Amino acid sequence: MKFETKTIHAGVHPDPSTGAIMTPIFQTSTYIQASPGDHKGFEYSRTQNPTRKVLEDNIAALENGERGLAFGSGLAAMDAVIKLLSPGDEVLSTNDLYGGSYRLLRKVFEKFGIRSTFVPMSNPEAIRPFITSRTKLIWIETPTNPLLNIIDIKAICAIAKEQGILTVVDNTFASPYLQNPLDLGADIVLHSATKYINGHSDVVLGLLVAKTEKLGEELAFIQNSTGAVPGPMDSFLTIRGVKTLHIRMQRACENAAKIVAHLQSNPKINKIYWPGLSTHPNHEIAAQQMRDFGAMISFDLKDDTFEAANAIIENTHLFSLAESLGGVESLIGHPASMTHASIPREERLKAGLHDSLIRLSVGIEHIDDLIADLDRAMA
Ligand SMILES: *Cc1c(COP(=O)(O)O)cnc(C)c1O
Repeated sequence: MKFETKTIHAGVHPDPSTGAIMTPIFQTSTYIQASPGDHKGFEYSRTQNPTRKVLEDNIAALENGERGLAFGSGLAAMDAVIKLLSPGDEVLSTNDLYGGSYRLLRKVFEKFGIRSTFVPMSNPEAIRPFITSRTKLIWIETPTNPLLNIIDIKAICAIAKEQGILTVVDNTFASPYLQNPLDLGADIVLHSATKYINGHSDVVLGLLVAKTEKLGEELAFIQNSTGAVPGPMDSFLTIRGVKTLHIRMQRACENAAKIVAHLQSNPKINKIYWPGLSTHPNHEIAAQQMRDFGAMISFDLKDDTFEAANAIIENTHLFSLAESLGGVESLIGHPASMTHASIPREERLKAGLHDSLIRLSVGIEHIDDLIADLDRAMA
């Protein structure tokens, strides 16, 4: 089945008792048994729920993995992955990481003796000196937030495999429409389905896909043991959202490319960060491992101040000022004072994240309206 067909059909079956074509919301905690242990595959909804199962089977098919698992949020999904490890084990992670992921590794898991090292990964060979005998997991996020750096998934996975280390890719920014890390050698893929997969800014939900049945079983054991599962309503909304993932992503990527082309001639802009630009340092890798370049764009200004950025952000009407990304509506944000405000300024500047950096999550509105909105705000 092609991707566009899988988003709609994979894992989905008409309800046998009624013929309902859409997956019912099985709002139930338990299931009757004919005699003890004699049931239809569902015993208790922390362990399995039929609505959640459709979503889990669907994402497994979209990422070409053996097992999909759904969680109450992207970070709950990440929490389950890190619980594969034991005290004394180490995580090697990219330094350009989603803030919540950084917080989970640093502020929660270090207390339990699982240490993390954060290093740049845009040159894969440069990670070798940081791998120790205790490194058990490599955590990649690509494209990264908000500078849209690209990491070579295949190269990092090859290094990890040599040393028997698991590789996990946070594929939230690309979505499975643009990038399938398991095909490039990764062991586990994570999604904050809150973003592109659900795509309508009305659900918080996380997904994992394991490449092997064995790894899937281990993660399912943790999912059931810790219980951070989504409810059937949120599972249903995500199943509904994913059906249009391909057309939403296609349009959002087209809009983003047109916005970048338009902004390139704007005299107020210092630099545009987008992997589709031939000047992007890892443009070639992006072209190899992604089907298109994504709908997240960042840019900074020649007048590199909070005030200059605010003057633009506060004057857009269609681009709404909000955190999050990946919905049908376009969003605008200021990482230095929003998502990355907790990072000390010196460190932030060293990482290349300037005071005036503006991040766009491009939606699927008409391109003329989006460009007119940016032009008006920037005038
Ligand atoms: C939002 C996000 C997360 C966290 O997901 P939640 O669903 O908010 O818990 C993790 N990684 C990336 C890249 C994200 O954008």
